[in-house]
Amino acid sequence: MQEYKDRFSISSKVDFAIEALRKKTVGMLEPMSFLIAVQFGRDPFLILISCILSSRTKDTVTYPASLRLFEYAKTPEALIELSLEKIESCIYPVGFYRQKAIALKKIAIQLIEKHAGRVPDTFNHLVLLAGVGPKTANLVLGVGFGIPALCVDIHVHRICNRLGLITTKTPVETERELKKIVPKEYWIELNRLLVMWGQNVCAPISPKCSSCVLNLICPRKNVLKSR
Ligand code: SF4
Repeated sequence: MQEYKDRFSISSKVDFAIEALRKKTVGMLEPMSFLIAVQFGRDPFLILISCILSSRTKDTVTYPASLRLFEYAKTPEALIELSLEKIESCIYPVGFYRQKAIALKKIAIQLIEKHAGRVPDTFNHLVLLAGVGPKTANLVLGVGFGIPALCVDIHVHRICNRLGLITTKTPVETERELKKIVPKEYWIELNRLLVMWGQNVCAPISPKCSSCVLNLICPRKNVLKSR
């Protein structure tokens, strides 16, 4: 069986995974950023804020916290008017809510002072904002602006390694290697599909391999225990 799985080329594995996951994720809860884009339209500022809140916090906590904050502030100008205490009370109980409230204030100030109140649409400018790393920058580019960008979070990193598409140790390496093998038209969608798959099937511990549609092509690299 392993030999059979190794006969798939990397590009055919990518195509197979995208096609299969498009079908199998129908009906699953969308990742938070995509939910926000559906609810509020493509608004880079809202995507940026919710992504900052999502660090080390589950979507089920981050999403309602984002909505509570958006009731008071949907622009940098409105956010800057809120006290830190008010921001904290809106976003609690997301992880590190005090530090995140400070980061949000700093971002609002940076956007107003350096970008005329608009979210920049380049990776290099985005990562200069407070608390913004490659993952957030790419999500804002992809979901907020519709610019092809590959957002690598823990799900994308874990599943692509298990599938044997890449062999990497860090998300930064993963982004670099995936860009070599995944066609640009899949970049935004890949994150959406793998986040849903990671949340529902290919869990960090004990993934549901026996019922996984990717079983056919997956060598299950570094999977010690599965269902
Ligand atoms: S077969 Fe198992 S390890 Fe491979 S993608 Fe599916 S759930 Fe994950």
